[in-house]
Formats: sequence, structure tokens, C-alpha cells
Amino acid sequence: MSSQMVIVYHRQPYEEVEENGKIVLRENKSPNGIVPTLKSFFGKVTHGAWIAWKLADDPDNPDFEQRIEVNDNYGDYTVSRLALSEDQVREFYHVTSKEAFWPILHGFKERYNYDPVDWANFQDVNRRFAQAAADEAAEGALVWVHDYNLWLVPGYLREMRPDVRIAFFHHTPFPSADIFNMLPWRKQILESLLACDDIGFHIPRYAGNFVSAARSLFDIEVTSRTQVPDKWIFEGTALTERSWPDKLRYNGRDVAVSVTPVGVDIGYIDEVAGTNETAEQTRKIHRETEGVQLILSVGRTDYTKGGIEQLSSFERVLEYNPDLRGKIRLVHVSVAANRNMAVYEEIQNEIEQIAGRINGRFGTLEWQPITLISRAIPFTQLVSYYQAADVAWITPLADGMNLVAKEFIASRIDGDGVLVLSEFAGAAVELADAVLTNPFSNRAMDLTLVSALQMPQDERRRRMASMREAVAKTDVRYWTPGTLTLEDDAPAAAIA
Ligand code: UDP
Repeated sequence: MSSQMVIVYHRQPYEEVEENGKIVLRENKSPNGIVPTLKSFFGKVTHGAWIAWKLADDPDNPDFEQRIEVNDNYGDYTVSRLALSEDQVREFYHVTSKEAFWPILHGFKERYNYDPVDWANFQDVNRRFAQAAADEAAEGALVWVHDYNLWLVPGYLREMRPDVRIAFFHHTPFPSADIFNMLPWRKQILESLLACDDIGFHIPRYAGNFVSAARSLFDIEVTSRTQVPDKWIFEGTALTERSWPDKLRYNGRDVAVSVTPVGVDIGYIDEVAGTNETAEQTRKIHRETEGVQLILSVGRTDYTKGGIEQLSSFERVLEYNPDLRGKIRLVHVSVAANRNMAVYEEIQNEIEQIAGRINGRFGTLEWQPITLISRAIPFTQLVSYYQAADVAWITPLADGMNLVAKEFIASRIDGDGVLVLSEFAGAAVELADAVLTNPFSNRAMDLTLVSALQMPQDERRRRMASMREAVAKTDVRYWTPGTLTLEDDAPAAAIA
């Protein structure tokens, strides 16, 4: 069956669990996150499709059905599962995407690793994603492709299916031309993206960077610019921009460049935040941290998240402010998302080492300055940590958006709590009332933490009220594939 909307996202839209020796599909445990939001688009069409990969011992002869039909609360959709071998996944995802692209996207030139990249494999995997999308898409369908590991899909798909409308969303930052052009495949990547009808980014800076990289290599006319709304302009803040080029003309085609920041599901978080169970968990954390101010840091173990820099700041703060010893406690949640990758293992070791040193230097029998948590906390529990924290300390060196910051705010139905947020997180553009900090400056890091701990209650409440308003404006339910809509262009009969 052909589909009016096709989502191309590397992960499958559900969890596969084994029950009585059989694999069954189950909704992702937490309805929080991007997958349910994307699936909700299937409710707007008679039939949708989702393209993902699935590990196979023998990709030519996989021991699972490659195309399955799903009918659930979200709608009717096909899931097309591309069979990839362990080697293909490693090359495509862990090597090319994570070792070569990821550092470039986040501006870490020195971590860029070109040598192990198998470009032929990357092209092949992307071509297969494009082919699967081409096979599922109805005439004029909307195909929404997600993230840099599928950079080449739009280019291949445009050749296969000139009739479909293609949107692409970047979940990461997009760097300036100086850095992006370090990639030897820059032309092919940008040409592929320019085959889209709409290219989406979280914030104006990334959109502008993309256009300047594209214009460094191709003759592209900027046919329109959009003024950034005043509420997103904070004088002197690192990611502030005043306008971005929102329409391009290239190769006889119009390409829209959209800014559609991803948000959180306010309704869902509100619901979790208001349950008795959450209140009980929050009270328990309060009891366990009685008499100390709780500082909470949550993120993946990744050099972009600045965990090491943050722990070093915490150490300095304790060293130079003896009066704070015994009065504050840092809960540092650092979850290893990419196991078996040497770079993440090194960071994890270093984080454990610094945390151990700080606890050894300053800890007493009654008081341990840092609690390190390296396993993922289920979202419903995380909400209690957000609620119990006096300060959420979120200081990535570079981050496309940072949903943790928005989740913290959405969880604070009590209207209290301080957010200290890196200027280099995309979320900083929307959150003027966070205490913005520069994670590259020791002084700024240390001072902002101390001032957050000392902030008077009326100021905390005023800032939190304004941040809650800002976060509500980009509720993920309003998220769209940029300028492309299902309703306007799809045949009327296609809309449920
Ligand atoms: N998260 C979680 N449990 C944890 C740590 C993180 O469920 O122990 C979730 C968190 O709620 C958030 C996501 O992981 O939704 C992290 O998203 P973010 O945008 O902050 O960072 P990313 O990992 O995508 O770079």
C-alpha cells in the first residue's frame, strides 16, 4: 500500500521484546521523545510508512520480515526494516556518523577521524533507505528524513522520485563553512540536502551556517530572509542571530530553510509531574537530601556534553567556597549511550576519576559531595529528580537543542527551581531567563553556579514563570516538517 507520509528515521518506531520465545512489538516505554511525535503524524493520513534499520546476521537472507504492517493508536503504517549486518551498522553509524560527522557538527575539529570511514558503505546504506522510501511513497507524498546519518537520502530519493516532497530535519547543530568543509564529502552532502523542499533546524544560527556552507560551494540565490523574533534576541549571547535566509533558489528549484525548534510534550510531562507517585518519589529525594541544596546534571556521556568541565568547576567551587561544603550536593547523571566506543569509555573513566577525587578530597562520613549515576533513569523517575533539584546545571560545550533543560522546566509545576544553562545549547535561544553560562570560561561556570545557589526565591519564581511560558510555545505537538504540510497538498481523500 502506498503512503501519503513516509518517515525516514534510523531507529524502529517501537521496542522489540521477547515474550514466550517470540518477538513482539511494544510501544516505547516512555511516551516522551521524538518517536511518538513522529508517529502521531500517521493519524493525519490514511496510511503511513516508517523506514528504519534492523540488525541481521545475514542481510541477504534476514530471519525477520522486512516489511510489516502496524495498526496501533497512531494509525495504519508500514514499517520497512532494512537488514544491515553488524559491520554495516558499525561503519555507517559508529564510525562514519559518530567518529567523522559528530565531531564536525559540534565543532570539535581535533576529534574528527577520517581514516576509518568507509564511504562506499555509507552511500550504500543511504541509497537503500532512499529506495525503501521511494517504494512506499504515494504520488506527491511527504517524505520526512531525520538527521545527519541519512544525509544522502534526499539526493538519491529526488532522482528516484521527482514527484515527492522531501523535508529534512537536523537534530544536531550545523557548523560554519570553515568547519563543515573539513568533510571531503561536503559537496555530495550539501547537494543532497539541496534536493529537499524544506531543510529544518532548531535555531537560526544553524540554518544560517548551513546556507553559508552551501553558498561556499554552489551558486545559490537567497530569495528571502526572516527576522528572528525579538524574544529570541539576547544581546551578547553566543547563539543569538538577527535573521536567517529562509528561501533559496538553486538549480531551478525553491528550497525552504526552516527553523522549527523541537520541544517537549508539555501535556504528558504535566501529567507525570502531577501524579501521587511522582510526589512520593520527589518527597523521598527531598528527605534524602535534607539540609543540602541539590544540584542536578543530566546528559549522555559524550565530550559535547561537557561533563568533565562541569565536574572541574564543581571542584573549584568547593575549593574556593569552604562555606558551601556540607551544604550542596551534585547528582551527576551521565548515561553511556554508545557502548563499545573507545572515546565514550575514556570520558566515562575520567568522569568517574574526577568524581572520586572530589568525594575523596571533600567528603565526610555525613556528606558526600557527588553522586554519580551512570545508568539511565526512567523518565517518570527523572521528573522527580527535576522536581527535587534546587538547580539544574546543564552545561554542554555544544548541543543541538538539549531537551533535558526543557523537561526540567516543564516538570516544575511548583514554579520554583533555577536553570543554569550553557550558551552553546540550542535551548538557550528560547530561554532568556535561564542563568546562561559559558562552559569555556572557568570563571563564568563557577560564578553562575554560586549565584544560582544564592538566588532569592522571588527571582527564581519570576524566571521560572517566564521559562515555562517559553517552553510551552514550542510544545512538540506543534512541531512540523517546516513549511510542508500534509493538509494543504495531499489529495483530499488521503486525509483521515
Ligand atoms: N534521559 C532519560 N534518562 C536519563 C537521562 C536522560 O530518560 O537517565 C532522556 C531525557 O529525558 C531526554 C533525553 O534522554 O529526553 C536526552 O535528550 P537531550 O536532548 O537532552 O540530549 P541528547 O542525548 O539527545 O543529545
